[in-house]
Amino acid sequence: MSDSDSASPYGVAALKEAATSLNAVRDKFEVPSDADAVNQEYRMRIPTYYLGLIEKEGDPIWLQSVPDSRELDDDNLPEDPLAEDKPEYSPVPHLTHRYPDRVLLLVTDRCPMYCRYCTRKRKTLKGSGVGSDTIQQGIDYIAAHPEVRDVIISGGDPLMLSDEKLRSVLARLRAIPHVQILRVHTRMPCVQPQRVTKELAEMIGSFKPVFMNVHFNHPREVTDEAKRALDLLADAGIPLGNQTVLLRGVNDDPKVMMELNHKLLMCRVKPYYLYQADMVKSTDHLRTRVEDGIAIIQALRGWTSGLAVPQYVIDGPDGGGKIPIVPQYLQKLDSDEVILQNYQGRRIVYQQPSVPTRAEVTGENGVFLPGQKITQLETNGANGANGASIGKTLPVLDQYDFAASEGCCDE
Ligand code: SF4
Repeated sequence: MSDSDSASPYGVAALKEAATSLNAVRDKFEVPSDADAVNQEYRMRIPTYYLGLIEKEGDPIWLQSVPDSRELDDDNLPEDPLAEDKPEYSPVPHLTHRYPDRVLLLVTDRCPMYCRYCTRKRKTLKGSGVGSDTIQQGIDYIAAHPEVRDVIISGGDPLMLSDEKLRSVLARLRAIPHVQILRVHTRMPCVQPQRVTKELAEMIGSFKPVFMNVHFNHPREVTDEAKRALDLLADAGIPLGNQTVLLRGVNDDPKVMMELNHKLLMCRVKPYYLYQADMVKSTDHLRTRVEDGIAIIQALRGWTSGLAVPQYVIDGPDGGGKIPIVPQYLQKLDSDEVILQNYQGRRIVYQQPSVPTRAEVTGENGVFLPGQKITQLETNGANGANGASIGKTLPVLDQYDFAASEGCCDE
């Protein structure tokens, strides 16, 4: 039995009620007959609640949830563009260790809804057999790696686990001394907000510091029901962020994105990332050009509160990691002055102070992480990022003093 089979009554109810064939959609809308074949290849599930948000065929809610025959087009895109399953990044099944101090732990392959653009479509829309044994393997790996201070618990959707199963995962992770931060990534408050109860929120919040990233893509998803769920989570002391995927026909419009972010902030959710859609097989029809993402950030930055501006990133193919994409505000930088362009297009001059940089004084460059030995910075030129030369060995820090850190947090 997979973990998600034993989900709480709320999860079970959602699974039972959800539409898993296009016939349920046809009760209300016209669905092209060629979409049926898609369901054979990539499973579908649309919670009754979310189905009720669709107003018409092809609208932003439909595009995210209803199988589309274009998913079967040969788009020449890879199944695992982020190389999450590559042995060099996945030391044990369903765990990705790409960055120095954090890992991604998948605790289920089930979701309340199967989003048509999912990065992990190969696992979520096809099923991949995440179970108690692989979760424990992942936890054992984390326990054996003291450099891991931040664990992202994802899937599938972790809230598909029963409260008890999720509590068990969080408790085992929290018991590992070097794990400082837990993060739960979930789309549940958006697509099945009824799953979020006061008990669930307080249980998750009890494992602080625990952060939650939710996943809303369109302002019509921020309903009263969703707000109730988000309020419960925020009231339980869980800092909330939102991850949005930029999707053609859904949210590739600055006005839509601004409205979404304003509504999220009213629910105490900070827009965290705007993702350029990953190069995932069978999702090409939903991808946008990067210029559209840059235009959206330009339309937000300065024109509304910085709280409402997420970081726009491309999650680099083949394990490149998240790379920020920013409009060209910095036009020139030398030791005397910085030439900038502000959000209105005005040329701004900032005078530099007459002091050397810290790197010039100390000779230190690069990134310093607890217990992390950095031996090489990859750069594009002889003097690339932070002025470091290719192949330069960077200083190794002493182990971070976790006991002292806990003392600070206690105050
Ligand atoms: S809920 Fe998340 S993991 Fe599941 S299908 Fe949607 S995007 Fe993928």
